Amino acid sequence: MAVPKRRTSRSKRNMRRAQHDRVSPPALARCTQCGETMRPHRVCPACGYYAGEQIVAKPSDQQQEEPVQG
Ligand SMILES: [Zn+2]
Repeated sequence: MAVPKRRTSRSKRNMRRAQHDRVSPPALARCTQCGETMRPHRVCPACGYYAGEQIVAKPSDQQQEEPVQG
């Protein structure tokens, strides 16, 4: 059985991996509600909207819910 004579160097290993084992950058989309950059098919981290509906409370508004008028 054929056996490698030399251990693959870090350089050669990394060059090989750079050809096809790349990690692709995450897809980016714009929030239709606030225009913030976000990942598609996920609740917007900035305003908490998904498909035009508020799903989670705005991260900055979590402490002050429904301020009492008057
Ligand atoms: Zn948003």
